[in-house]
Amino acid sequence: MFTKRSLFLYSRNIIEGVVLKIMNGDYEKTRDERLIEKQDYFMSTIVTQKIYGHNSLEAYNNVLVEIQELENLMSFFKDSSDVSILNRMAGKGVVKLSKKTIDVLACAKDHENICRGAFDITIAPIIDLWRRCGRLSKIPGQKEVEETLKCVDCRSLHVDRINNMASLAHEGQLVDLGGIAKGYAADIAVEIYAGMGIKSAIVDLGGNVFCVGNKPDGNPWTVGIQRPYAARGVSIAVLQVTNKTIVTSGDYERFIKVNGKNYHHIIDPRTGYPADSNLESATVICENSMKADILSTAAFVLGLNEGMEVIGKVNDVEAILVTKDKEVFITKGLRDCFHCLDSGNDYKYYIY
Ligand code: ADP
Ligand code: MG
Repeated sequence: MFTKRSLFLYSRNIIEGVVLKIMNGDYEKTRDERLIEKQDYFMSTIVTQKIYGHNSLEAYNNVLVEIQELENLMSFFKDSSDVSILNRMAGKGVVKLSKKTIDVLACAKDHENICRGAFDITIAPIIDLWRRCGRLSKIPGQKEVEETLKCVDCRSLHVDRINNMASLAHEGQLVDLGGIAKGYAADIAVEIYAGMGIKSAIVDLGGNVFCVGNKPDGNPWTVGIQRPYAARGVSIAVLQVTNKTIVTSGDYERFIKVNGKNYHHIIDPRTGYPADSNLESATVICENSMKADILSTAAFVLGLNEGMEVIGKVNDVEAILVTKDKEVFITKGLRDCFHCLDSGNDYKYYIY
């Protein structure tokens, strides 16, 4: 039902991909720059890796094995996943989970207050309600939403980081890591690359992009920011980055359609309805993809002013927020690496 939105990597030599368009750098290859570039499907999204180095194939394979494991741990749908174990035990007791799942749950907890209720992994009962209604091409009734919303409260998720235990306080509560797990997977992929001495790579999990180092020619990576609602690959801007993750949340590619109206997949936990801020997309740039995943979803829910306020309170995080009025706001720190592509046409650009 949901289609896929994404950032794409931008360049002259474009190789057609299913979702992403990825470039070959315009540089002279040396023997040490063996390039592997492949796409796979994990975590309900396309995973693209582009890696340079003599051991790029091995790095690619190691990352795939790891992402498969993360999917097995964090899938909402697999009965044997940590998430399902935690959810089944809601209101019944504490469960022992893998350290990786605990890391993700703990990171969500760490951002609970910062995000002012806009990011809440206990949103799952509402997601599930919208998913079920979507299959029947209807939207849930107000009463049903209100009733289901009673289960949503991340304060009743308890995480014991020392003993790797977690619990949900009330029966009916469910956790969904869809807004955070891809970010975690990107961070882990980058750790694997680093451990293998890879100096130049890109990993992209359907919009969670991580650019490792520079391109092999020494220039920064160039990443295009998708123009909301335009054909895939049309960008409103490009960013030039080194060692940064770029994560976008938007309303324009994953949604259900009921009676001609789109209901997208990012839910405002305060209302139980798809977030209705003034934004079409929220992109966060920093050095930790899990943090960027959380903050991009939260900013999208909170809207321009509150979203920027939240971003401003977190160290070393930049953002690009695109409003429905076709205004693009960037944080000051992007001034030198952000390049408009649509100036003078539909979009107006501002430093926030
Ligand atoms: P995408 O998964 O398309 O990259 P996001 O990172 O913004 O988009 O995460 C959206 C996913 O996160 C949803 O599909 C759902 O599983 C979950 N989710 C939706 N709304 C919220 C929210 N307010 N807080 C936490 N998770 C959410
Ligand atoms: Mg997110």
